[in-house]
Amino acid sequence: MRTVRTVRELRASVAPARRAGRMIGLVPTMGALHEGHLSLLRRARAECDVVVASLFVNPAQFNEHSDLAAYPRDQAKDEQMAAGAGVDYLFAPSAEEVYPPGFATTVTVGGLGERLEGQHRGSAHFTGVSTVVAKLLNMAAPDVAYFGQKDAQQALVVRRLVSDLNFPTRIEVCPTVREADGLALSSRNRLLSPRDRERASALYRALRLAAGRIEAGERDAQIVAAAARAEVASSPGVELEYLELVDPESFAPVRRVDRDVVAVVAARVGAVRLIDNQPILAPPKPAEGPGPSRGKARAERTEEALQCSAR
Ligand code: AMP
Repeated sequence: MRTVRTVRELRASVAPARRAGRMIGLVPTMGALHEGHLSLLRRARAECDVVVASLFVNPAQFNEHSDLAAYPRDQAKDEQMAAGAGVDYLFAPSAEEVYPPGFATTVTVGGLGERLEGQHRGSAHFTGVSTVVAKLLNMAAPDVAYFGQKDAQQALVVRRLVSDLNFPTRIEVCPTVREADGLALSSRNRLLSPRDRERASALYRALRLAAGRIEAGERDAQIVAAAARAEVASSPGVELEYLELVDPESFAPVRRVDRDVVAVVAARVGAVRLIDNQPILAPPKPAEGPGPSRGKARAERTEEALQCSAR
């Protein structure tokens, strides 16, 4: 694996592969790599001839200076882990390389980018994400780019951006990797105190509770969401920002659960802000009945459902 720091070096590195018609995969990350990132890198390794991982803590998408300052950074370990996952090029540019003096252009995904995370972190958040993703896609010009379901709204924003601006890159969304107690892996988890780490599993419990209520027949989204919020509230030290049932393609709130939905949650655990989500398949129509084999097929499709929905 080679670590490259400039756009010029990156382009020169992948140019021979591109000329030879080989498939280039990109995995954008902000570093502090964990098994979630590795799942994306391994998938890229299995599907592409050349794998580029980017490592850039993008200041433009942070709405709080303290969050940016505290964001974990460990480039030496990231290099080891990326090499272990079979990455060919680790693109680790400086902030000046990405945003040189005079930089003035941004990309904003309307509507979708203003809801939930866009509302709570401010609309500059997704503008920061969209702008840096557009730049990374232009820098590496990958055939495929890999994103995580963990950041479901971000993945949808990226799909919208790529579709609307005709980027010739296919977007793949990979399932969320979790700890044994269900907590979604996140670089920020390492900032949790041991006590807060235990408390943080409330987010996943709340999402599962929402899925369970729907499976049990509840169709009123407000009732399902209220029950899930109560689960978060019962965990001391977890301060809920939002927990909603939303449409998988628009992230607009739904009133009745008579189609696929995504349960999305954001909460502060101590000083650390965490997000998570759970795609939930449309309940079967009354005439269909749950039936054991149909129930199993539905469970297997759950993660796949949202990932395919916005293609
Ligand atoms: P980040 O470094 O947090 O910006 O994440 C880089 C990519 O890894 C994004 O596409 C994330 O959605 C994805 N990712 C982060 N955590 C996980 C996880 N637990 N499972 C799967 N993908 C993840």
